[in-house]
Amino acid sequence: MRFLSIGECMAEMSPAGDPRDPRAYRLDYAGDTYNTAWYFRRLRPDAGCAYLSAAGDDAPSDAMVSAIGSAGVDTRFIQRRAGESIGLYMIVLDGAERRFCYWRSASAARNLAEDPARLDAAMEASDLLFFSGITLGILPRAGRQALLDALSRARARGRTVAFDPNLRPALWSDADEMRAWIMRGAQVCDIALPSREDDAAHFGDRDGQAVLDRYRSAGARCVVVKDGPGPVLYAAGEEIGAVETPPADSVVDTTAAGDAFNAGFLSRFDSGEDMAGRIARASSLARHVISVRGALAPPPDAALLS
Ligand code: ADP
Repeated sequence: MRFLSIGECMAEMSPAGDPRDPRAYRLDYAGDTYNTAWYFRRLRPDAGCAYLSAAGDDAPSDAMVSAIGSAGVDTRFIQRRAGESIGLYMIVLDGAERRFCYWRSASAARNLAEDPARLDAAMEASDLLFFSGITLGILPRAGRQALLDALSRARARGRTVAFDPNLRPALWSDADEMRAWIMRGAQVCDIALPSREDDAAHFGDRDGQAVLDRYRSAGARCVVVKDGPGPVLYAAGEEIGAVETPPADSVVDTTAAGDAFNAGFLSRFDSGEDMAGRIARASSLARHVISVRGALAPPPDAALLS
């Protein structure tokens, strides 16, 4: 099985936690679709796992692509663009609250869908394709359409497409534009992985069932609705159900809980395991991720997921 995740990875600067030096920061690399690839790689060392994106040709781009490669994620579909660079975000502590400040408007990843032939080649070399509402949000209008068209072609050639709507109003010029493109994304996917809270807030869905129904009506044959500590609702073909989420021992940092959940669920794509089992594994991984600080928690003990 060959997994391809599509989107933007950024440099992340997070407080180093040194009280004597509040200006000490730590450099990492993260981004929703990259986080999912990172976890997928750890869960499935036997499978293909590649990242489709774009970076520049400067030193920060070199360092990021090298870090992605060192994490075991295949970088051959990360286009290197002359004269361009990568995006950056900084985590600023405001008491116990974490605020995210972004510098991403000039990121090369905004051009990741410029060449349809590149998209087709990467998708052709993969079985399971994953993208998000953030991937769509960072792209210019023509890029969004080019990506959706390429995903439709790949799907017609038998590839499976998974989509996390990951609604981020700040990336869109207005809420109507965001909703319209998210639903276009939904129309090209087989598997939708929305979050009840975000989707209800931005689409006005009254509950998880309404979220599920909206993605099913758009054409997704498999929908899994995450809901923080609440039960995960799902539908796959005619099968509909809910899986309780076991309570977390401690909630330290919920960053990337949804990204890790997606990796846990998608990593069992070819296993033949039933939906409830796949969701339980995804929840185990997400529970581990929220119990530690940072997006990319140290590799989970495989026993957590068995
Ligand atoms: P997102 O990060 O995409 O907003 P959620 O907040 O719904 O997604 O969380 C994703 C998954 O993480 C949940 O389905 C659940 O498995 C796990 N999770 C999140 N918050 C909690 C919590 N407080 N207790 C237990 N599990 C949680």
